[in-house]
Amino acid sequence: MDIRSLDLDELTEFIEGLGEKKFRAKQIYRWLHVSLVSSYEEMRNIPKSLQEKLSEVAPLYSLKIYDLQVSKLDGTRKYLFELEDGNMIEAVLMKYKHGNSVCISSEVGCRMGCTFCASAIGGLIRQLSTGEMLDEIYRIQSEIGERVSNIVIMGTGEPLDNYDNVVKFLHMVSDENGLNISQRNITLSTSGIVEGIYELAKENLSITLALSLHATTQERRARLMPIAGQYDILDAVGAMRDYANSTGRRVTFEYSLIHGENDTDEDARRLADLVSGIMCHINLIPVNPVRERNFERPNHEAVLAFQKKLENYGINVTIRRELGRDIDGACGQLRRRHLKGH
Ligand code: SAH
Repeated sequence: MDIRSLDLDELTEFIEGLGEKKFRAKQIYRWLHVSLVSSYEEMRNIPKSLQEKLSEVAPLYSLKIYDLQVSKLDGTRKYLFELEDGNMIEAVLMKYKHGNSVCISSEVGCRMGCTFCASAIGGLIRQLSTGEMLDEIYRIQSEIGERVSNIVIMGTGEPLDNYDNVVKFLHMVSDENGLNISQRNITLSTSGIVEGIYELAKENLSITLALSLHATTQERRARLMPIAGQYDILDAVGAMRDYANSTGRRVTFEYSLIHGENDTDEDARRLADLVSGIMCHINLIPVNPVRERNFERPNHEAVLAFQKKLENYGINVTIRRELGRDIDGACGQLRRRHLKGH
């Protein structure tokens, strides 16, 4: 029984099933999802006997901070968390003027296989439960003693590969009985599981959806991102167009600039063509070199020139601000280093 993954209705049913009064469920939900406690003993208004019963039937596990790196440049905090089964995941806290943003993992490892990404190297180990994803936020908010206001699901894993748990996470983290983080401040990034995007469009969420595009032709995209071989690039972009139209939410296309791979004038023109007419913006990410990979980022002038070209085609473009350069900031690198033992 994974009690942190139960929403208030499910928790109420569970608590009533133990022969307890309904109001206890509300109290316990509050301790778990507002006070963010990591043990039943901390639930002061819950009778000792019930605390003990709960410890037996639904042991409460919390993520343990196994390693923490803090950037001296900008205060970015990178957490390596140990899960109850000994697996490791990472999450990152980035401080912005507008608030505290946390990047969470949705799976232990990943099976998308993107060639430039450190998280792909060991494949998928398992999916995270809703409660484990919530606890990434909870442990960080408790550790810094400040409110987390924004979430990006851009850590290790493919969120739409763990669809049900992720959608439940989105509902619970934005629940007014919980942390009540606005869905408008949440971004979910997908490598482009097309049927998942159509499904998500029907969930009535007001999150921002981002597609990892990274190339402008089917052939090139499939080479960089094996998962993209299962879908046509036009279908992936078409699903994003549908998402923007049916939710009224502006979508994002992420484009990792890799020197000599996807940064030509032709690429800029094709990219502008692909997204033309879609309510969107493009986020350029100069590729983060990963030890095991030999991709190179274009120099800063080339990144600015690529942005300019897109802007001339009338596209909204931002360049991903880099935080935590002095720590293992990029996708999956801290976990990777731990797994290798150095
Ligand atoms: N599986 C999801 C979310 C996790 S990755 C997805 O693919 O979107 C979050 C973003 O970081 C994706 O756009 C991913 O392609 C990108 N990314 C991964 N490794 C990177 C690297 N080394 N440099 C730059 N961006 C990278």
